[in-house]
Amino acid sequence: MRLFDSQKSWVECTHKDVAWHLRPSVYGAVDPSFSPAVLNVRRRNPVIAKLKYLLWSLSRIAGADTSCPSCPGQRARLVKRKYTTALYRCPECELMFRVPKDDPDTAVSFYESEYEQGVTTDCPSSEELERLKSTRFAGTEKDYAVYISFLEAAGIRPGMSIFDFGCSWGYGSWQLSQAGYDVYSYEIAPTRARYAKTMLGCRMISPENPGRSFDCFFSAHVLEHLNYPREMWRVAREVLRPDGAVVTFLPNGNLTRPQVHKTWGKVHPLLIESSALLNMARWIDFSGTTYTSPYNLQAVSHGVQGSDLLGAELAIVAHKIVQPERRLSSLRIAAQPQSQVQSPESGSCTSLTW
Ligand SMILES: [Zn+2]
Repeated sequence: MRLFDSQKSWVECTHKDVAWHLRPSVYGAVDPSFSPAVLNVRRRNPVIAKLKYLLWSLSRIAGADTSCPSCPGQRARLVKRKYTTALYRCPECELMFRVPKDDPDTAVSFYESEYEQGVTTDCPSSEELERLKSTRFAGTEKDYAVYISFLEAAGIRPGMSIFDFGCSWGYGSWQLSQAGYDVYSYEIAPTRARYAKTMLGCRMISPENPGRSFDCFFSAHVLEHLNYPREMWRVAREVLRPDGAVVTFLPNGNLTRPQVHKTWGKVHPLLIESSALLNMARWIDFSGTTYTSPYNLQAVSHGVQGSDLLGAELAIVAHKIVQPERRLSSLRIAAQPQSQVQSPESGSCTSLTW
């Protein structure tokens, strides 16, 4: 199935697994009139935005579709109600998701004009960017030093190629490049993609036509935003080399974590814990090991699957299974040593209030 057609400005995809509408401007030539000053859309009143979300969900909650957005499961069960929304869990794949679900065609417009997540989405001025680059983002919540250490522990070493999926305005892609990786990037929001390309030299590509394969498919705090998460895994499988690895970071959706229900809502339609993450990987013939922050890099380097997994941030390292094992019930959890390394992202995307 093709998501992107160079002959059209938009491609309407009708399959339920398609998470995005993609348009060429995301990957096309840089607008010569581009200026970082136009990047930050006007900030929306958070109270009005919340009210709109509550009214939207109120109008849709009765009779809302509770089918699983990741697998064919139709027997999802209610986990928790929150205001005019509810969290359901699929017993087949263990994914938890918000009901009502988003319309498939809202992704680009939402991430272009409404999505606000502090440093993640606010493109800095030229002066601020130079300051951040001069310190390589050290001490900021976008310091990728831990992710780079994690990648190296997972066997993804400088010089290898990385596809940074969901790069926002390019802060992570830039740091990965500075660390010596051969980085290519994708971002759904056109203005942030243009900023990444223009201001940070990111090489923006289409997930549907990347033009090459990669040693690593990387994403940081992207999966929990997707309406149909399996589509990301499908892209990963298609762009990775046979011995390539998926490395993904996201908020830990373990229900025993304090205030875990603040991490799903409008911005995060999915709440994902280790078992669901491993199942997603398994479904496309990948085998994964999961970890939570602070990370024990020795465990990562040895591929030891965790058992505690109560940290704020969840990570998976997954490889293609040579002999596919499709039985989801066969996942086994082994002991994990104490973790050591705290990710800067682990606290930045886990404190949503609605
Ligand atoms: Zn499911």
